[in-house]
Amino acid sequence: METILFLAHTEADGSLGKAALETLTAAQALATGLGAPLLAGLIGGNVQPAANQIASCGAQRFLGVAGAEFAPSRYSTDSAAAEALAKAAAATIVIAPATSRCNRVLAGVAQRLGGRIDGHVTGATTADGKPGLTRWYYRQRMEAVVQRTRRPWFILLDPGCSPAWSGAAGTASVEAVAVALTAAHQRTVVTGVQAPASDAQTIRPDAKLLFVAGAGWTKTQPDGKTHPEEAEQLILGFLGKAKASLGSTKSLVDLSGEGQAVLKFMTHLNQVGQTGSTPRHPKGLATCCHGEEPHTVGWRFINERRAINLNANCSWAQGKADVLYVADSFAVMRKVNELLAAK
Ligand SMILES: Cc1cc2nc3c(=O)[nH]c(=O)nc-3n(C[C@H](O)[C@H](O)[C@H](O)COP(=O)(O)OP(=O)(O)OC[C@H]3O[C@@H](n4cnc5c(N)ncnc54)[C@H](O)[C@@H]3O)c2cc1C
Repeated sequence: METILFLAHTEADGSLGKAALETLTAAQALATGLGAPLLAGLIGGNVQPAANQIASCGAQRFLGVAGAEFAPSRYSTDSAAAEALAKAAAATIVIAPATSRCNRVLAGVAQRLGGRIDGHVTGATTADGKPGLTRWYYRQRMEAVVQRTRRPWFILLDPGCSPAWSGAAGTASVEAVAVALTAAHQRTVVTGVQAPASDAQTIRPDAKLLFVAGAGWTKTQPDGKTHPEEAEQLILGFLGKAKASLGSTKSLVDLSGEGQAVLKFMTHLNQVGQTGSTPRHPKGLATCCHGEEPHTVGWRFINERRAINLNANCSWAQGKADVLYVADSFAVMRKVNELLAAK
């Protein structure tokens, strides 16, 4: 008989974040599918608010490792807490959100407990009474169902793969799990967090739209000149108004290496494609981008695709976009920004 542990850390305000709530949905489905008990294991400064938030999720026990030492993300304390929770739950399957905090520690915890771990998991399934997980291989070209016999089995679920759990809050009774810490566990001290202002972030995983900029924005235009400053204004203006996430082609982010005028806010983190990212958004709009396969393979999880290109024979026209506007991206985005500003 399997025992499923939903493992998560709290946010700074003591609540559970979206990725954790999505993982809870998957953990619940797995427990129901297997007829196995579900337990919740929470780590944080104060875990009671988080336990109350998910009080009606059907967990048989709420286990918590709490205290000021466990509030910040720190390998030594997080791994000790996760290890203690997995042991206290006698968990055979531990399912956690693939946040940077969990990603950093759980492989080490699996090793300590003699278990195994799978990351970048997109779903947990049951077939013939056996648990399995789904994940993509070879740059999202093949999807596999993975089963393992070794326990405990740690699963890191990628964000955006399950709906966030949204049941009623209540009052949960949390069993405190003790973790003996030494001074060595607390040698690393988190002195603060440095993060860009949220409107300076161009990568927004929760955005409804992915806006992709290609190298065409920096190329010589029909008037014989380049217009990088206007390109920058148009793109940033659109992102600000539409709250879209910004993707790029490899050619555009590579241009800085070739000494050409580039869009300053672009980095390789924006690159979508075979050697870039595979973001998940309901819609995508590609501009000044040719739509070559190494780029569009990163659009696997973009449902509705549109592109603007001067070239009617660009690769988007070969069945890669739902709609191709054969037009000048400068002119189209100028007009779109005007319309958005007038709203
Ligand atoms: C091993 C390997 C891995 C790769 N990995 C990736 C990857 O991860 N991601 C990726 O993106 N690429 C990747 N590439 C590169 C990829 O093959 C393409 O070279 C790249 O995507 C092309 O970028 P682009 O479309 O921006 O530029 P270009 O091919 O130069 O296309 C520019 C487009 O802009 C259009 N255009 C110009 N001006 C305008 C205008 N005013 N209005 C409208 N359209 C205009 C042009 O018609 C043209 O179609 C990889 C290649 C290899 C070999």
